[in-house]
Amino acid sequence: MIDPTVPDRPPAQPHAADARPTTAQLLAGRVLYQENARYLPRVRESVDTRLSGVVMTGKDADKRAAQLRSAGYRGVLLIDSAAYMTYTATPAEPFLLPQDTLFEGLDNCLDFQRHRGADAALTPTGYIPAAASKTLKAVMRAAEQIEREDVVVVLPIDIAWINPEHITQLIAVCKRIRQPKAVILIRQFDPMAAFKQTAENLRRLVSEAEQAALLRTDLAALDAMVHGALFAGIGADSSIRHAVPAGERAQTAESTGWAQYPNVLIPELMRFCGTRALANRYANAEPARCDCPVCDGRGLDRFNSPDGETRIESEDHNAYVWGAWVNEMATFQPGHERRQWWRDRCARALDHYELENVRIQQPRGFQPPAPLRAWATLPIESGTPAPTEDARRGVSPAAG
Ligand SMILES: [Zn+2]
Repeated sequence: MIDPTVPDRPPAQPHAADARPTTAQLLAGRVLYQENARYLPRVRESVDTRLSGVVMTGKDADKRAAQLRSAGYRGVLLIDSAAYMTYTATPAEPFLLPQDTLFEGLDNCLDFQRHRGADAALTPTGYIPAAASKTLKAVMRAAEQIEREDVVVVLPIDIAWINPEHITQLIAVCKRIRQPKAVILIRQFDPMAAFKQTAENLRRLVSEAEQAALLRTDLAALDAMVHGALFAGIGADSSIRHAVPAGERAQTAESTGWAQYPNVLIPELMRFCGTRALANRYANAEPARCDCPVCDGRGLDRFNSPDGETRIESEDHNAYVWGAWVNEMATFQPGHERRQWWRDRCARALDHYELENVRIQQPRGFQPPAPLRAWATLPIESGTPAPTEDARRGVSPAAG
């Protein structure tokens, strides 16, 4: 039985205080795997402890994190109890804290996460609505009061904060938060598809604000990493790859009961696809195959089932596939070289859609997601024009 009480002091550190890496050092360069705390956790071989780690995410995250530690997991671990899913931050109370705590409520909450096995603690920040400047500043001021070093300030912001009208203010606030800060984008449906400049402005955010991270996302995690994010997190399932405003129900397939079916990452297309849609695409064609350790050359059509074993296997496939990209990314120098690698990889995936649609004989079978198109075509640094479609395909203008 795990001790459910909050300790009256922080847990003892395994090393002397000065030997422990800072929170930023511990998390730098990692793309974390965000486990859904709804399920019993397991130590996954698909999660590379060198370049990744786990963010236990959801209502029972603290309990599940402790269970994961008990199961023998020794890698980097964070706990995101997702306060923003039920609580809207206010200027007076930006954090969701227990009502019965008279003082030091935040400290207790942070200690509790450490006690449950987290390597650093996440602030229980509520959802920050669109244009709620006073609330955003209240989070910033509350962060200024935090003296301990084992903290990541969570910014669960409405996607509207990323639009051209508000991004400058958001960056200014982030710059004044001295701790690592983890941005979580909140919107019904895919936040990356909210408006045209989302991908571009996210790059601005992670490159201009120091020690910014992007949590609870999909492949946007990798785009953030190559453009300067401290760390990032990719959700195990679609409900953990984005978040909806506090108190709202996700208006996704989940409400119609589809969410039980896995979403599978298709390596060549660099996109997630629901297994029911995938079954449709492959109805009259050979399914795409995968060489990751869990698939071992088998087809990607085999995950079309809502049972737990299939879910786990599909999640491991996903983690192996993007984990290999994170490994590849780490072999390139941060900066231009890394951005170029990512841009070229996205461009190759974009080109692959046409080939795959011809192969399965469905002209509009697979459509590239808008963010992938943006990652493949946006200039990789300001002032550098994106290559033209022809240049990317290696076609000279004369030959075209
Ligand atoms: Zn696979």
